[in-house]
Amino acid sequence: MTLPEIKLVFDEPVQRKKTPKHLADYSPQERREVAQELGLPAFRATQVATHYFSHLSDDPQTWSDIPAEMRQSIAAALTPKLIELVRSVTCDDGMTRKDLWKLHDGVLVESVLMRYTDRTTVCISSQAGCGMNCPFCATGQAGLTRNLSAGEITEQIVAAARTCANGELPGGPTRLSNIVFMGMGEPLANYNAVIRSVRNITDPSPDGLGISARSVTVSTVGLVNGIEKLTEEGIAVTLAVSLHTPDDELRNTLVPINSRWKIREVLAAADAYEKRTGRRYSIEYALIRDINDQSWRSDLLGRLLKNRNAHVNLIPLNPTPGSKWTASRREDEAEFVRILESYGVPVTVRDTRGREIDGACGQLAAAEKTRTD
Ligand code: SF4
Repeated sequence: MTLPEIKLVFDEPVQRKKTPKHLADYSPQERREVAQELGLPAFRATQVATHYFSHLSDDPQTWSDIPAEMRQSIAAALTPKLIELVRSVTCDDGMTRKDLWKLHDGVLVESVLMRYTDRTTVCISSQAGCGMNCPFCATGQAGLTRNLSAGEITEQIVAAARTCANGELPGGPTRLSNIVFMGMGEPLANYNAVIRSVRNITDPSPDGLGISARSVTVSTVGLVNGIEKLTEEGIAVTLAVSLHTPDDELRNTLVPINSRWKIREVLAAADAYEKRTGRRYSIEYALIRDINDQSWRSDLLGRLLKNRNAHVNLIPLNPTPGSKWTASRREDEAEFVRILESYGVPVTVRDTRGREIDGACGQLAAAEKTRTD
């Protein structure tokens, strides 16, 4: 079978218009240097970072500890508006909210905020579109538009934290507790921006949001060189590998990047990550009816994982409108779980939050594009 062409992008953004720089693009030291370039004392940058990360404010009117005449220039240099809300849709009695964002050049991305009894999680986009071409995925069908900057990624997270703090979700004010890089895009194909964003999440106040790395999940379809870089980074986030099948033959089709890095290599890289960080990794597996949900595949997956420190997250497929790919039958899903458990492999079936609001990555952006075309 001829495989679709894969366009790999590693830190080579194909941006048509340069994204304005934001304090979230810089390290804490670089932020201070930007302030000094503006002729201001370095500590002004720290004050702005405190407003942004600790008070979740990018409105210079509220920065009362900074002289009024400085606020506009420092805001223009450090907190330009990078994302604008186009619309939000909710379901699950308002506990799930999907936001569609327009970036400075008109590109659309989306994030999903989900409140549970014990946590509130935001799923964010790291790229506009995706170049990985997985045939069952709405985002993959449209290809990659461009990488997001660290500022654009971080803005989605800070916006979610603000929504939580302002009590906009039912149940009153809460704290954003978890961040998952599982929206549009392949995070490790936009490595530097994703790592800067992770540091913005995990750095303690005032340099970041002060959320534990354990509460951050970075997913990948298996870019082995990206996993190796992440291993060297020394940030113990949870690694989620989108495997989707235990055999290379089918994976070459479901996840075309498999023609470059085989399952054996991907799992070896994930094992090395686990060894280095002590963090169990997760195997993401979208269950697709009659494609990858047979019991022999569950058996093969169980044998592959039984001696590894991995957890399987089964995802009932959220069908793309007009697509032949659909969710597994309940009985096939139950059998798949039973076989995996017989090997002692921990497994959960992910809840399908957001299903009524085009919950699969890219579906809201695709629908909006159709509306405006
Ligand atoms: S499933 Fe993920 S990696 Fe594959 S095309 Fe969709 S967004 Fe990209």
